Amino acid sequence: MPSYDHAKVWLNGEVVSPEEAKISVFSQAVLRGSSIYEGIRAYWSEERNNLFLWKIDPHIRRLFDSMRVMRMTPPYTAEEFKDAVVEWIRANEFKEDLHFRLNVYFDDSGPLDMKGYAADEVDTCVFISGGPNSNRKRQEQGVNLCVSSWRRISDDSVPPRVKASANYQNGRLAGVEARINGYDDALLLNQDGKVAEGTGTCIMIVREGKLITPPVTASILESITRDSVIEMFGRHIGPEPVERPMDRTEIYVADEAMICGSAAEVAPVLSLDRIEVADGKPGDITRRLQEIFYAAARGVDETYEKDIMPVY
Ligand code: PMP
Repeated sequence: MPSYDHAKVWLNGEVVSPEEAKISVFSQAVLRGSSIYEGIRAYWSEERNNLFLWKIDPHIRRLFDSMRVMRMTPPYTAEEFKDAVVEWIRANEFKEDLHFRLNVYFDDSGPLDMKGYAADEVDTCVFISGGPNSNRKRQEQGVNLCVSSWRRISDDSVPPRVKASANYQNGRLAGVEARINGYDDALLLNQDGKVAEGTGTCIMIVREGKLITPPVTASILESITRDSVIEMFGRHIGPEPVERPMDRTEIYVADEAMICGSAAEVAPVLSLDRIEVADGKPGDITRRLQEIFYAAARGVDETYEKDIMPVY
């Protein structure tokens, strides 16, 4: 079975070896970060002997939203993107939990690089890469976070709503700083000084039984896992989750806090700025949400059948 690093790559319509999966040094993706992507998971079910893509349709929808905002012309239809994902997985014969990326990027704009790299001046290209990934350490043990000294990018400069690769330099600065200072990761405040999100995750707290999370206008990525957790809490735990601006100190006094995202899944937040969240242990509601999430994503809870797509 190919490992994460050695899996085949889908590159512009062909499945190629990792050695062949190269892009040009003149690519606008390399030169100026002109690239958008999706980070997607698929979950293996022993019982059903199948691999399920989790929420592939919302991911493809957001891929198109990212292309629209970043003024990239879609090179394929939604169905063609989905077919490419299935083709890539089957070519690698993956039968285990996966995390992979679907990237759309601008390639070479010509030898003199004099063009404005608008959509009609460059080639829009696609690759899919990734592989087996089921590291559950953070989900099991939880994370200790700090509030970053870096602020989250905002919609009036570099829009965080969509998944542009260049946005990740903001999260990288925050994440690296956090680790140098002895934390697992960082939370970023937005330009209003309210809580935005993590470096690759959204944040939620529980106070007196209510789930609270910043709104989609708080300089956050419109996270698909965030939507899932909101829906799952509302349906299985209740009451109706609250989306509103969040202060940093609300996390200090919360009963529970968690981060969520496709890569991170649902992980407990144990402390913020070295102040423990409640007793500094994963909360009961966080644990319950993790159970609900995995039951849905692995095809155990059949009420989530519309959110999973079998690969085989
Ligand atoms: N915020 C940021 C900045 C992210 O990079 C991610 C991961 N894609 C998330 C939130 C979570 O989004 P999703 O649940 O769609 O993966």
